Amino acid sequence: MRGGIGGFLAGSAAGVLLAAAVAHAEPPGAAAAANAAGAALFSAGRAAEATAKFSEALALDPGLAEARHNLGVALATLGRDELQAGRFDDARVHLERAVELAPREAPYLLLLAALHYQRGDLYESRQFVDRALESAPGLAGALELSGDLWYQEGSLERARHAWESGLGAAGARDHALRMKLERLERESAADEGFGRDVSRHFTVQFDGPVPAEVARAALRLLEAAYNRLWREFGRPPQHDVPVILYSRTLFDQITRSPGWVAGSYDGKIRVPVGGLESAADAELLGPILAHELTHAFVRANAPGRLPLWFEEGLAQHFQGVTFEAARQSLRSEGIDFANLEDVSAALRGGARVGAAYAAAALAVGEMVRMDGLWLPRRTLEHVAAGRGFTEAFRDAAGISLAEFEERWAELDR
Ligand SMILES: [Zn+2]
Repeated sequence: MRGGIGGFLAGSAAGVLLAAAVAHAEPPGAAAAANAAGAALFSAGRAAEATAKFSEALALDPGLAEARHNLGVALATLGRDELQAGRFDDARVHLERAVELAPREAPYLLLLAALHYQRGDLYESRQFVDRALESAPGLAGALELSGDLWYQEGSLERARHAWESGLGAAGARDHALRMKLERLERESAADEGFGRDVSRHFTVQFDGPVPAEVARAALRLLEAAYNRLWREFGRPPQHDVPVILYSRTLFDQITRSPGWVAGSYDGKIRVPVGGLESAADAELLGPILAHELTHAFVRANAPGRLPLWFEEGLAQHFQGVTFEAARQSLRSEGIDFANLEDVSAALRGGARVGAAYAAAALAVGEMVRMDGLWLPRRTLEHVAAGRGFTEAFRDAAGISLAEFEERWAELDR
């Protein structure tokens, strides 16, 4: 399982951008005319064309402050929309240009910080969010993102401070902020009795009843899975991956996950380990840890949105679910899925979830059978480069996703 991140984009950042109005009185001349034409295009919602006009105005008269300001607004607007659509490379080009034009414009800096956050580049994200807060200390979106970053790093106190500072000014995001604070409250209450351990790529926290041997064995298993995933994917997560080992009841309280979830990934790997006593017992965790760590690698490699069947199928591949095992369990479930989208829907929970996991594993198993791991990996690379999944799949596989779905549907007959 994995949860989404970010989400404040729709609120504060967009609002502040719109507040940066474009209307200015025009001085006479060709540059001013181009600037006015750009403003009209922008007001009509045609930001890309507006950008060209503002650039033209600026080329004609590099001293025209309105054109410079407006070009920044248009570029940031383009970048924001691309970011929301998951077109990260385009977004980055436009947002970096906007920041170049207006290095202290907090909303632009925040958008760039959000972009890096969504890509999993937490270090870069921190640089830009700090710059945004220097310019605008009360900017709610920046405070929320700053809190998200502290939270990812396991600094719960700093996360709390940032999120609390954002409350009140966050508008539509206020509710989301309160939810984050509530969750953090539950986690810090549990945190007090926690032990800690670290290894090369992980920090592990575990609550009192978890034996230290179990935690240490978990770290060893995680490092082994990490090396394998690194070989297969190329790009590892950019920072230590936080892992929390819970006794089952604690886990349920904190994540409010339905009972069937073995582990979860939401930027941290969370695994319930209630009842495990020794290092030998802990070997049982190997497949779950590899599954959740796959989600971390997928996010590091393709931060955009992916179909759930693809993500869960890949995670199960690395968990060790074979093509044959997936086919057998799907047959024994006796459930038919209309298509892969139907599988993704069923993966979100409900009666068909077990069958949906098997169907997802079967789909990725078939991809691997067709062309080895190269095929899912290449698909991820295309998505990372900004293509939609359907197109990315076709370019990687040489057949359309629809054709592939037909093959997959025949498999459990
Ligand atoms: Zn999963």
